[in-house]
Amino acid sequence: MANKRDYYEILGVARNATPEELKTVYRKLALKYHPDRNPDDKESEEKFKEAAEAYEVLHDPQKKAIYDQYGHQGLEGSGFSGFGGFEDIFSSFSDIFEGFFGFGNGRRSQSRSQRGADLRYDLTLSFMEAAFGIEKEINLEKKEVCSVCKGTRSEPGSHPETCRHCRGSGQLSRNQGFFTVRTTCHYCRGAGQTIPNPCKNCRGAGQVIVNKKVSVKIPAGVDSGSRLRLTGEGETGAHGASSGDLYVFVQVEPHEFFERHENDVYCRIPISFVQAALGDKLTVSTLNGKKSVEIPKGTQPGDLIRLQSEGIPHLRHNGRGDLIIQIAIKTPTNLTKKQESLLQEFAKLETNKLSNKLRNILKSGSGSSAN
Ligand SMILES: [Zn+2]
Ligand SMILES: [Zn+2]
Repeated sequence: MANKRDYYEILGVARNATPEELKTVYRKLALKYHPDRNPDDKESEEKFKEAAEAYEVLHDPQKKAIYDQYGHQGLEGSGFSGFGGFEDIFSSFSDIFEGFFGFGNGRRSQSRSQRGADLRYDLTLSFMEAAFGIEKEINLEKKEVCSVCKGTRSEPGSHPETCRHCRGSGQLSRNQGFFTVRTTCHYCRGAGQTIPNPCKNCRGAGQVIVNKKVSVKIPAGVDSGSRLRLTGEGETGAHGASSGDLYVFVQVEPHEFFERHENDVYCRIPISFVQAALGDKLTVSTLNGKKSVEIPKGTQPGDLIRLQSEGIPHLRHNGRGDLIIQIAIKTPTNLTKKQESLLQEFAKLETNKLSNKLRNILKSGSGSSAN
């Protein structure tokens, strides 16, 4: 770790190089020092790793900021340790190595794919589970390294044999005019080895399908479309390569009473026209149980009453949305004779009030024209 070279110097870029420049420069270096182009060349291997590390730091704004300010020591302090080996590099920058040499079947692409596959799990939550968070146990079907052969694919006690068709190289060569064409050996599928005595437990696959329970902590405030990532809960990688990740896709069921818009929750409460006219105190259901709510005098249909911080908790920061009550007004039906006559009385008063108002308007109108 002593005498590490400056990352900018390694890539040969200015300190203000754009992400595109970094990528282009790194691609060039990676191509030049690629282990498949420089087999068993220690110096190229070092250069290849060095470039990968420099790129890993400089193309990540957070790591770059630490490096710019505190140098190599700062990064070590933040837990950055570079790459363990080629596999790490290939899996981290798979986008850069994609279609690099058109290998498709060579040694490299095989080892790259040994990281375990990512898994997807679709999880449906009730409205309340999403609002308040919950811990769920899910059942996963996933591939794991066979415990009998430990992934070697051979029955314990037996060993793989070198493929006699390709003599262990994994490739078959054939001359075609001036060229030598190499193809993946189809006897060993490029592995260079055959298994004369396959493991009985996994039938020589090296992996078995197991049911596994995984506990998923759902944070309060998730919504349909939220995606949770559980690092390392995907399929196990082969030969000690890292496991894939598990992605849990959340779907939230609608609620019969509450309707969610982002973190605000809406509901509709019907009241009688008398309550609307005279005002009232109501007990309503909120996400946290019953709450008393004041209906003001003269409430109109569709009026909104906002209860602050009674909505859904924010997923990434403190606080909650609001509960918004929309008032619906019920028109009474099946009136008794008495109610009907009272309402007629009421209507008469309303008409009088109206005609008085009208008279006043007309009076003031005629007054102004007279002046
Ligand atoms: Zn096995
Ligand atoms: Zn072979």
